[in-house]
Amino acid sequence: MKINADLMPKLGFGLMRLPEKDGRIDMEEVCRMVDLYMESGMNYFDTAYVYHGGKSEVAAGEAIVKRYPRDSFTLATKLPVWELKNKDDRDRIFNEQLERAGVDYYDYYLLHSVENGNIDKYESLDCFSWGVEKKKEGKIKHFGFSFHGSPDLLEEVLDRHPEVEFVQIQLNYADWNNPVVCSGKLYEILHKRNIPMIIMEPVKGGTLASLKPELEAKYKAIRPDASIASWALRFVASLPGVATILSGMSVTEQMKDNINTLSNFEPLSDEERSAVEEVTSIMLDIPLIGCTACKYCIDGCPMNISIPDVFKSLNTMTLYDETFRPKTYYKGIVSSGHGKASDCIACGQCESVCPQHLPIIELMQTAAEKLE
Ligand code: SF4
Ligand code: SF4
Repeated sequence: MKINADLMPKLGFGLMRLPEKDGRIDMEEVCRMVDLYMESGMNYFDTAYVYHGGKSEVAAGEAIVKRYPRDSFTLATKLPVWELKNKDDRDRIFNEQLERAGVDYYDYYLLHSVENGNIDKYESLDCFSWGVEKKKEGKIKHFGFSFHGSPDLLEEVLDRHPEVEFVQIQLNYADWNNPVVCSGKLYEILHKRNIPMIIMEPVKGGTLASLKPELEAKYKAIRPDASIASWALRFVASLPGVATILSGMSVTEQMKDNINTLSNFEPLSDEERSAVEEVTSIMLDIPLIGCTACKYCIDGCPMNISIPDVFKSLNTMTLYDETFRPKTYYKGIVSSGHGKASDCIACGQCESVCPQHLPIIELMQTAAEKLE
């Protein structure tokens, strides 16, 4: 049975970019954010086995499960294909996830990051039928997958697995026609099949929260008081079939703005839609690295390079056409103990897990030339 998109909150709290202090999750701040979010009447939390090196599920337990009645919130987590060596690993990891968060069941359970390079493993380890079994056991309420593959693969997987109740995709206005991400095509496939969608990266890892001044001016001319990020959220929320929009919020101000945008939601007008299209077409002329700061690549890097921060520095350099700010930011990252871009030994670990399929090794060489 498909999930009922109308009953789900418009904004979901993604627990992948939680605030940190002294290198650890700042639990006091997380609790404040959870309270603020719950007070808004919304209650969808999204974590994963790999977020914050495994600490995100534990943080969900501390900040949500121990502090709110179980039926007052819904919690989603995901099965990490990277950790599966055999069928027994599915239960081993799932039981660990229940224990980490201190729950008896998850409301939403997803196969994490299904894509062309890992679908065979998910199939050979029978992960789809295993998910259905977990649902029958009452250990999960709804079963779906998050997706980073091609439109053709999405059609194939949906044909083979009608048991799937929802799909989580990356969707934002800048990636609508992106030939790697294909947000628009993935959306059309799911919408045509009437499959509820959970949306990730609506603000493209923060990239759409602040734009070049001339682009921001186009939005400000129409809505002077609205944040730039609110345009990205309203673009997604205006699409029929979208159940919940996840935002990986890391500061309270960002959360307040997102809550305000989606609890007083107004679909984009024709004039606003044209402004978004205009901004998108100008943005696509600026060649930025499509890193969403998901951090999947960080833990396995033998040289401890903070890859998304390196890309943030390079993108800032491109966007604002200046070197002082990005170089200072980069120096700060390296002096906090991370490896330099030039330390990269081209082991390829990062490229094997990057859902955006970025040529990270090549980009590390560019970063070393431009930032060091
Ligand atoms: S290829 Fe370079 S950046 Fe990627 S994991 Fe290996 S050392 Fe780190
Ligand atoms: S490089 Fe890829 S895996 Fe690493 S943070 Fe960026 S998008 Fe995620």
